[in-house]
Amino acid sequence: MENKPLWTITRVLEWTKQYFANKGIENPRLDAEILLCAVLKCERITLYVHFDQPLDDTELAEYRSYVTRRANQEPLAYILGTKAFMKHSFKVTPAVLVPRPETELLVESVAKAAVGAGAENLLDIGTGSGAIIVSLLDLLPQSRGTAVDISAAALVVAGENAENIGVSERLTLVESDLFSKLDCNKKFDIIVSNPPYIPAAAIAGLAADVQKEPLGALDGGADGLDFYRRIVSGCEIWLQPDGLLAFEVGIDQAQSVCQLCRQAGLIVTAVRKDYAEIERMVFATREGT
Ligand code: GLN
Repeated sequence: MENKPLWTITRVLEWTKQYFANKGIENPRLDAEILLCAVLKCERITLYVHFDQPLDDTELAEYRSYVTRRANQEPLAYILGTKAFMKHSFKVTPAVLVPRPETELLVESVAKAAVGAGAENLLDIGTGSGAIIVSLLDLLPQSRGTAVDISAAALVVAGENAENIGVSERLTLVESDLFSKLDCNKKFDIIVSNPPYIPAAAIAGLAADVQKEPLGALDGGADGLDFYRRIVSGCEIWLQPDGLLAFEVGIDQAQSVCQLCRQAGLIVTAVRKDYAEIERMVFATREGT
């Protein structure tokens, strides 16, 4: 009888690395390891310690289904159902954008500013998974938050994350197209947003896995700036005088967003870069009266 080689951890990873590479996956070996860890419920180091351990049929079947999905360009975070952001593991589904590491810098900057200003009421526009507002409330135990999103499905995810991370009692979720469902008499100390900012014509050129994320979380209109225009124009009503407006922006958009802020009578206080030295955040304030 012929002896078939066993699907050991090493063999599985080598095979998948090649398969993913052929499918144009950016980090083939890493993705293979992460998916295998999800099946084996172990840390990556374990794959190296037990490299010659064979997978059983159940493990192989589950792993194969993950590999097929990833090869089909499904984002890793949707397959795993979670994404690490700041201190926590956030639930993610195809209803929400996968939180990005750059956005952690936005959270850190806003948290620092909030502590300095004693900010109590925070608004997150287009909250998606809730990664920004939930992380902020986790860092700022004295603050309360409102999170809006046009997508009811996204708000369900944000609500679950708020619950899991223990901030749900301080967070109000509102299904709303930007400010439209908010009380006109309420003002916020901080308005933060990572709105959709990809210019419509650039969507087709995004990586295949990014294109599996919700279009509504990516498409910022013809020049990518539609949501900044609308948010900036709402600041007169909803941003507290001396309050902070904090945006994540796309590549080459920072100066245009600064200009939009100034045109709306806001004062730009800072532009900050991300890890890749790209101007990624714009901060502005509304003059006190
Ligand atoms: N950062 C995302 C990307 O580069 C875009 C998110 C957004 O439009 N706010 O794909």
